[in-house]
Amino acid sequence: MESILVLTHVDEIDSALSKGSLEAVTAGKELATRLNASLTIGIVGSDVTSAAAALASTGARLLAVAGEAFAQARYASDAAACEALCRAAAASIVLAPSSSRFVRVAAGVAHRLGGLIDTHITALGGTESVEATRWFYRQRVEGVISREARPWFLLLDAGTHTAFAGEPTPIAVEQIAVQLPALRTTVTGLRAPAQDAQTIRPDARILLVAGAGWTKKQPDGQTHAGEAGELILGFLHATSASLGSSKSLVDQGSENQAVLPFLTHMNQIGQTGSTPRHPKGLSTCCHGEEPHVVGWRFIGDRRAISLDPNCGWTRGKADVVYIADAFQVMPRVNALLNSAKA
Ligand SMILES: Cc1cc2nc3c(=O)[nH]c(=O)nc-3n(C[C@H](O)[C@H](O)[C@H](O)COP(=O)(O)OP(=O)(O)OC[C@H]3O[C@@H](n4cnc5c(N)ncnc54)[C@H](O)[C@@H]3O)c2cc1C
Repeated sequence: MESILVLTHVDEIDSALSKGSLEAVTAGKELATRLNASLTIGIVGSDVTSAAAALASTGARLLAVAGEAFAQARYASDAAACEALCRAAAASIVLAPSSSRFVRVAAGVAHRLGGLIDTHITALGGTESVEATRWFYRQRVEGVISREARPWFLLLDAGTHTAFAGEPTPIAVEQIAVQLPALRTTVTGLRAPAQDAQTIRPDARILLVAGAGWTKKQPDGQTHAGEAGELILGFLHATSASLGSSKSLVDQGSENQAVLPFLTHMNQIGQTGSTPRHPKGLSTCCHGEEPHVVGWRFIGDRRAISLDPNCGWTRGKADVVYIADAFQVMPRVNALLNSAKA
């Protein structure tokens, strides 16, 4: 019988479990029920009291590696913590969120335990054995993997499972002692970019896409890149949305054309860009061509604002298309959002 361990970690900013960890808990619970297997949840963090309380209703065995050394991400301490949890749980299947913290150590921990690892897992199936699904070749081919080797580590992509939410109840956790190796890295603090600087937010509810139309000549014969930037940032401020872009817009930077200074190729969505997961998406001033829209595969509700009634969005690629001038629509959207906030 499989012994399933879900590795989780406390958020580095507060003492709650990270969203990705809670998603992995849901995946673990579902898998354990389907396989009729035992479920253990391991928690890594400085203080795991509230994280454990949040998991009490799972009914799983709870293990923790806690203490100041585990407050922040560091390869040596995190790898030692995960290894100790895996050994204590005698895990055959290990699920973990694809957080930067666990992505960094998971392969190393699998190697220490003589196991194997697969990454970017989006779904888990199977009733007799574990079948892990992932996409290959930029989301074009979906593969289902099963393996004999144990322990088998599976890193779950963010946004693929519902975050577990149970009634918090104080609960005792089994503390696992860890023999720390010599630590060469001292974590002196966490420095995060200002909210304005960080425009890519994988956990955001909304994706706002800016297309090249924002910097094109408008009916008055002029470009309005400054105003475009203010409107886009205004929407991001009001909604904490994630910002995506078309390729044409981010490419303009290298062509000496008017650009939006907060956009880089990292924002690009599409065939040669990223394929993020958000419940809703709003495309603005973008034509909706196939190489761009292919990056919207995992966006739930797709809306677009375009001047062109024959754009790609109107050809079945969006749920709702507003044939309108984004320079007129977005100021009103932002005003409504701000008045709703006030
Ligand atoms: C191999 C390959 C890979 C590619 N990979 C990608 C990729 O990963 N991602 C990607 O995005 N593209 C990719 N492309 C390019 C893609 O085909 C398109 O050229 C690109 O997406 C067009 O960007 P756009 O819609 O922003 O610009 P445009 O095609 O210039 O469209 C601008 C739109 O803005 C509208 N507009 C202008 N002003 C306003 C206004 N005031 N209000 C509302 N609408 C307005 C216009 O009507 C127009 O529809 C790839 C192409 C190839 C060949």
